[in-house]
Amino acid sequence: MTTRQNKWIKRKIKKVKMGNCEGCGLFCKREFAHKEPTGLSGNGRGRKERYYDWKNNKDKYHLLCKMCHEMYDYGALTDKEIERGENK
Ligand SMILES: [Zn+2]
Repeated sequence: MTTRQNKWIKRKIKKVKMGNCEGCGLFCKREFAHKEPTGLSGNGRGRKERYYDWKNNKDKYHLLCKMCHEMYDYGALTDKEIERGENK
């Protein structure tokens, strides 16, 4: 990958990552939270790989702030709550 492509993809990732959390609605830096395994858990979790995985499997991810992501992984925040927007 050339430097130019690298800069371009970094900007794209930044744009996706900054936004309103799907859990609490707060405008912040978001993280990719797996709804369903996409095969990218564990190995190959580089930023670009994650971005492309998200791009191809948008229905399998939530974009959550750090706090909601932790709650989601812990089971304190569920898909239903996120879909209904109960925590916003
Ligand atoms: Zn949140």
